[in-house]
Amino acid sequence: MKLGVISLGCDKATVDSERLVGDLVGHGAVVTPDLPQAQEIPEVDLFLGFSDLHHLVPALAERGLIDDPVAVHPGVRQFLGDQVHVRYLKISEGCDHTCAFCAIPLMRGKHRSEPLERLVREAQQLEAQGAKEINLVAQDLGHYGRDAGRGAPALPDLLEALLARTGVPWYRLLYVYSAGLTDRLVELIAREPRIVPYLDIPIQHASDRMLERMRRPERRDTLRAKLAWLRDTIPDLAIRTTCLLGFPGETDEDFGQLLEFLEEAQFDRLGAFAYSPQEGTRGAAYPDDVPEGVKRDRLEEVLEVQRAISAERLARFVGRDVSVLVDRVADPDDAAGSTHVGRVPWQADDVDGVTYLAQGGWARPGTFLAARVTASEDYDFKAVALT
Ligand code: SF4
Repeated sequence: MKLGVISLGCDKATVDSERLVGDLVGHGAVVTPDLPQAQEIPEVDLFLGFSDLHHLVPALAERGLIDDPVAVHPGVRQFLGDQVHVRYLKISEGCDHTCAFCAIPLMRGKHRSEPLERLVREAQQLEAQGAKEINLVAQDLGHYGRDAGRGAPALPDLLEALLARTGVPWYRLLYVYSAGLTDRLVELIAREPRIVPYLDIPIQHASDRMLERMRRPERRDTLRAKLAWLRDTIPDLAIRTTCLLGFPGETDEDFGQLLEFLEEAQFDRLGAFAYSPQEGTRGAAYPDDVPEGVKRDRLEEVLEVQRAISAERLARFVGRDVSVLVDRVADPDDAAGSTHVGRVPWQADDVDGVTYLAQGGWARPGTFLAARVTASEDYDFKAVALT
């Protein structure tokens, strides 16, 4: 069987696609970039939801589309992205939280952790395929292991196993909710140089009234205390967050509180979104009472406030010696004088700014270069390779 794949959505969806395609390749399918070749049959045979995917191999075997009903290398992921050195490892599925605006628990179900051994094996395969950076992803990394009961491995156990049994130079934690930041986890990040000093902690809002309405577990004071603790414990930590603007009931005063908090908290990076109701959620039952124009204005204001904060946060790195992971060779649209485009540990793939590197010689994507930061902009660095 010839197989063509289009993976839409976020990095978690890419992991799902790579696992699924790896499974089909293990059953004798051959991946082709030529999609018409894989659409031998113009009509659609099968639509499967995420929770039905285990029916796929039997359904294809039934139609005679799979040569080999026994998987040759079960659990081997097929690389589908464009950067083999930056990979994602999804450590759990689903979510136990009940945020009022979010449909993910309805679509993906309750939180289920992947077994530790399977994740270590998968990380070893990613390393063998060329991974230099592995980003751990889940709806909430801090929940890892909780569904497996007392004594089950937790996130620090998983990280320790990954560090001990792979040589991957950079591990990055995306999406840790502040409630999951335990002493043990934070101390591990602080002392382990292969876990980059970077955390993505979505706060969504900073007005207690809105946090309660959104059914978020944190409040402004607990967020404030956690951020101070993290910055005291992890040297040079970069914190990314996400905010949701225009959730039903958000007043000018709530919005003002959020802006004040952003100024105070000085997040290094921020993603912001305007609310739109999701079918089946609690939020969808509230009147969507913030006019679209107001949502847009608030979104722009938040991004403008963050732009200035980001520029100030980045400026402190100018003159410092850093390690740059080269992502690609520069092209004419990149910053003048740059030979390569890469990232320092404080910049995550895809969502953050980049580092424009000069004098990088013949460095190939996936190599690390020692460099000195020569300038910073709102979101990007300029650096020169040190020879
Ligand atoms: S926003 Fe995140 S934590 Fe909240 S319900 Fe959705 S997936 Fe879960």
